[in-house]
Amino acid sequence: MRPPYLLLDIDGVLIPFPDAAGSAPATHARHDVVPTGRSADNPVTVWLNPDHGRLLMDVIRTGLVTPVWCTSWRQDATTLIGPLLDLPALPHVDLPRPQITTSHPNGYLWKRDHVDAWLGDAPAVWIDDDFTSLDHAWAAERTAEGTPTLLVQPDPHLGLQPEYLTEVTTWVAQLPVARAA
Ligand SMILES: [Mg+2]
Repeated sequence: MRPPYLLLDIDGVLIPFPDAAGSAPATHARHDVVPTGRSADNPVTVWLNPDHGRLLMDVIRTGLVTPVWCTSWRQDATTLIGPLLDLPALPHVDLPRPQITTSHPNGYLWKRDHVDAWLGDAPAVWIDDDFTSLDHAWAAERTAEGTPTLLVQPDPHLGLQPEYLTEVTTWVAQLPVARAA
């Protein structure tokens, strides 16, 4: 079995949602970035936890997952966000830009159909804050059909926590690819 993909969301995972007072956790540092297509005098403020880069590298260095951005930041994840966390240039899933007013236009995460097609029959662990019960059912069905699939869903106001990455490495370690290594 191939190493599973590690699909990484950004908003609500690496960039937490602000609390009611509009602030980010004290662990996070402020950066102003200029996404593709935006003018330089109109940057976007993001809050990132430098520990996340180190924690993700600990997982990536095991060689037991293939990390890929899966975020509406698209290629800006690679060029803007990753470097702020000292992450290497990771590839990204080339998500479309659907005209939707909800992230669950069909009751499940809008990214999922694209991810499903992109993955084919590859195993995957997917970290995103925005799954619904239908996404969890999709993952369970893939797993039951012999394609190990784990969804990890942080609270978007807290974002990625170290224990989620422990869960990832524990899950990956029990897969046949890890046992054969
Ligand atoms: Mg998100």
